[in-house]
Amino acid sequence: MIAVIKNGTTTAQIQHLVDWLKHMDLDVHISAGKEVTILGLIGDTSRVDMELLGSLEIVESVKRVSEPFKQANRKFHPNDTVITVGDAKIGGGHFGMIAGPCSVENEEQIIGVALAVKASGANILRGGAFKPRTSPYAFQGLKDEGIHLLLKAKEASGLPIITEIMNISALDLFADVDIIQVGARNMQNFDLLKELGKTKKPILLKRGLANTLQELLMSAEYIMSEGNENVILCERGIRTFETSTRNTLDLSAVSVLHELSHLPVVVDPSHATGKSRLVTPMACAAAAAGADGIMVEVHNNPACALCDGAQSLTPAQYDVLCDKVRKIREAIR
Ligand code: PEP
Ligand code: MN
Repeated sequence: MIAVIKNGTTTAQIQHLVDWLKHMDLDVHISAGKEVTILGLIGDTSRVDMELLGSLEIVESVKRVSEPFKQANRKFHPNDTVITVGDAKIGGGHFGMIAGPCSVENEEQIIGVALAVKASGANILRGGAFKPRTSPYAFQGLKDEGIHLLLKAKEASGLPIITEIMNISALDLFADVDIIQVGARNMQNFDLLKELGKTKKPILLKRGLANTLQELLMSAEYIMSEGNENVILCERGIRTFETSTRNTLDLSAVSVLHELSHLPVVVDPSHATGKSRLVTPMACAAAAAGADGIMVEVHNNPACALCDGAQSLTPAQYDVLCDKVRKIREAIR
């Protein structure tokens, strides 16, 4: 349920109402915009007398929110959420250019790629240290050493970093990581989501291989309901009957998620297509669709990459991508 507060209401009056609602065992989310303040009521709202609430002097209107996701809902929070990491911002008109290798492999590789993608226009460096691989015999990532090398690349390039967590027991290693990624395979690892919700770190939540957008938003809700509102949603392709690409990029997710939620939406054309030649066109399409950022795999030598070489761009190809994406963003502004 949401209550829209009349213009000109004082903070003390709003607080008085919030205290009254909290007395009914409800959580109250306050969204104080420039024009309007909205109170989002979370919990068992069946006991709230809508007529009574709506008749209060300071209340403009009261509406039930039928969607099961509340804090991620745009009705609770009409303005776009903007996530800030280092010098980068994502959401509300700010664009995140996230790039880097699938996996951190060695110091020379990660620092080399970091400096190259930064020169092309990336504002966040990616690199996997804990890798969720389909085969237990495939390279599993450098783990703590990978994070250590990523931090060296952060220092060398000045770029904030994002890397994936697979198990909450590794959380201490992520103290200096700027954005924690929850991979597609863990989108519904609810215990992991709840623990990440207790941190204040921005979380990039990838859509599961076979999950609906509502399920993605419910997973975001798990993080937010624990107090962490810094969530970035990521469309990375879903499983369909189509076999010519690794997954099927669902670009309509960008518009649908923007309608339903205030959270920023990033597109990953690398895992969506699985083919390097398709990455730049799909990155352009994502920018044209209004995405808040693009996450792309870039490797100094894709042919020798320990993971996902076939979908990795060279730094020179990434440079072309950045140029095209910039032009598209200017064209749609
Ligand atoms: C990744 O970004 O490194 C990754 C493993 O992606 P996904 O979880 O989307 O498969
Ligand atoms: Mn990958």
